Amino acid sequence: MALITSDALVLRAYKLGETSKVVVLLTRERGKVRAVAKGARGGRPRYRSALEPLSEVRVSLHGRQGADLMRLGECELLRSAFRTGERGLETALFLSYLAELLDAFAQEGEADDKVYRLALAVVQAAEEGVPEALLGRYLEAWLLKLSGIYPPLDRCAGCDRPLPAGPLRYRRASHGFVCDDCGPASGPVLPEGARSFLGEVFRRAPADLAGPVPPEATILESFHYDLISSHLERDLRSHRVLKDVAREAP
Ligand SMILES: [Zn+2]
Repeated sequence: MALITSDALVLRAYKLGETSKVVVLLTRERGKVRAVAKGARGGRPRYRSALEPLSEVRVSLHGRQGADLMRLGECELLRSAFRTGERGLETALFLSYLAELLDAFAQEGEADDKVYRLALAVVQAAEEGVPEALLGRYLEAWLLKLSGIYPPLDRCAGCDRPLPAGPLRYRRASHGFVCDDCGPASGPVLPEGARSFLGEVFRRAPADLAGPVPPEATILESFHYDLISSHLERDLRSHRVLKDVAREAP
């Protein structure tokens, strides 16, 4: 039985039998890991709020190399996501969305320090009160970029020449932004404000993003979501819930 200790972010936890949970962790040492947390449910649950989504923990994990399911040993809470989630239903849902995004993109059993540091920085910025709409677009853009899916902002996907200043015109068939000669664009067209916002996203740490969200940047939400759902070949449940809640809000 190998033993790993690692810092980790909790992505989600689900019930297993009467007294246990399976916890999905984004670990610094091994990428995404699933582990059985024995005694995590019941009258006197072990671990308590350490298993809240996006809590930062230090864990010890037991199990064979390459096993699908490890066993959670110690789990020390370094930073609770609970305080951020306490700000209200929408914030709690937003944190679930971030966790589901990370769960969808992180590779199982494969350490990726860039993704880990990105996740940590976004969670910290959420705690510091950086607006959710900015952080959502930030995490989406970076996960897409680190997966090699985000189209370059400065070169035409058709002819590889530099793109002129101004709006970015997306062409689905080319999987990227195109110049006038390589069109027609199938959409969307990202206005200049969205383009400069993206420039900030790829230059800055999430804590340095200052609100409010530029109005042109809201178009990025659906643009990113199209890229994400076609990459994953599925929808994200928490994204749909967030949208439903936003629609019902007065
Ligand atoms: Zn071109």
